[in-house]
Amino acid sequence: MNDRPSVVWFRQDLRITDNPALRRAASSGRLLICVYIHEDDDPAVEGMPSPRKPGAAARWWLHHALAALDRDLRAIGGHLLRLKGPAALELDRLIDRTGADRVLVNRVYDPEGATRDRMLTERLAARGVRLLSHNALLLHEPWTVRTRTGGPYQVFTPFWRAARALGEVPAPLPAPAQIDMADTAPAGLPLAAFGLTPAIDWAGGIARDWTPGSADARRRLGDFLDLHLPDYKSDRGRPDRDHPGADITSRLSPHLRFGEIGPRTIWHAVHHRIEAEGLTGPARASAQGFLTELGWREFSYHLLHHFPHLPTRNLKHQFDAFPWRDDPAGLAAWQRGLTGYPIVDAGMRQLWQTGWMHNRVRMVTASFLVKHLMIYWGAGEAWFWDTLVDADPASNTASWQWVTGTGADAAPYFRIFNPVLQGERFDADGRYVRRFVPELARLPDRFLHKPWAAPASVLTAAGVTLGTTYPHPIVDHAHARDRALAAFAGLRATT
Ligand code: FAD
Repeated sequence: MNDRPSVVWFRQDLRITDNPALRRAASSGRLLICVYIHEDDDPAVEGMPSPRKPGAAARWWLHHALAALDRDLRAIGGHLLRLKGPAALELDRLIDRTGADRVLVNRVYDPEGATRDRMLTERLAARGVRLLSHNALLLHEPWTVRTRTGGPYQVFTPFWRAARALGEVPAPLPAPAQIDMADTAPAGLPLAAFGLTPAIDWAGGIARDWTPGSADARRRLGDFLDLHLPDYKSDRGRPDRDHPGADITSRLSPHLRFGEIGPRTIWHAVHHRIEAEGLTGPARASAQGFLTELGWREFSYHLLHHFPHLPTRNLKHQFDAFPWRDDPAGLAAWQRGLTGYPIVDAGMRQLWQTGWMHNRVRMVTASFLVKHLMIYWGAGEAWFWDTLVDADPASNTASWQWVTGTGADAAPYFRIFNPVLQGERFDADGRYVRRFVPELARLPDRFLHKPWAAPASVLTAAGVTLGTTYPHPIVDHAHARDRALAAFAGLRATT
């Protein structure tokens, strides 16, 4: 047996179950050092790129997720060593001190993180240390799903067909029963030293809705399978999670984002449910529909891997000439949920208060920014990055480009959501708007999604004074639609 310890470096895989790097290290019989390296504010070394820093809401999540991971590791005999500084230097120091000759990781796919892993592999090899990488984040590696000519897919349906044809998704790995830690590692830092939680506590609403960590991820998955899987397909468009039975969608996204649960676990749990309950007909189709959403997550990572400029540049280059508007006041009204369109404002306030927004409303709010206000999608993506607990390097940028029409298999730019009709269709009884825009709560359903159309007497009876208690629409829908379509037509004429 080799008596040199192995370093298990946690990144986007904050769990002990179905963690191939941890499992492999634990089963090698060597002593382990389980480490998380916090890199805030530290410059990269030797031209190594630094992964994008998490936004404020994700930092809150990360703090609690690291605490949960430490607890989980302690339950099997280990603990999480916390270090701070540029990863390459911190790994060097750790290896110097402990004599470790292997660093085991699960792969990341953001362009900076993936490039850095390649550079680290060489840097460590030069000193006789191996970086061993594994897949914990995805059902299939992005490079294994190929078109007939060997290239990447840019359309979802054939991508997903090809991915499913790759064969059975491997079963999730069990957590190691016991791990033995090397006692040569440094003491590490207290979690508070990372400064991840806000100085002024604005996170109360997030804390009320969410419990980071693998245990809660498993609970959410169980609840979702018990309560909503058979109706997911028909109900998933409804954002009103206050209805009896609570969450309609799984709300697993932040847990997946931080790797507290892996997609293989979800995949097999759903299949097990299909078989165990003998789901057929619409219930089976509903379960398959849920798995297809995991497919969209895979597709986003496929795109990010093959088009690493996805976070910063239009995938469809003809949009580079689009006449985006510079509108700081419009952007601020959108961010604060003060556009005068209730479904948009409810979504933006849900995001601000709880760190999450329902998928349908993400589409409506994003569309409003890029089409009604004609503000460049990057501004919205940045806001979501800062405020979403599930802000994901692949799904966020791919989804923004999808909504805008600049991305792969995207909704065409000329398809412009009408926020009134979207509200009336998906929040017909107004629960969602009433919850997040309480100043409109007493408006009758008929006018809830268009308060400006209500007669003065109705507004007065509901305690609404437009322009005072709730804004007038910051832009007229028909005018905004025409303006966006004209800009798009101009673009097509010149490209
Ligand atoms: P469910 O409906 O229960 O779906 C299960 C899982 O499938 C999700 O947790 C998620 O991992 C995946 N999934 C579902 N829909 C999508 C989708 N359209 N694209 C990619 N994966 C999907 N999702 C993120 O995880 N992080 C983001 O930063 C993010 N930003 C978005 C920005 C915009 C503008 C839009 C329109 C969508 C964005 N999404 C993002 C996708 C989607 O809105 C969320 O994944 C979903 O709302 C999460 O809720 P859920 O876990 O209840 O999803």
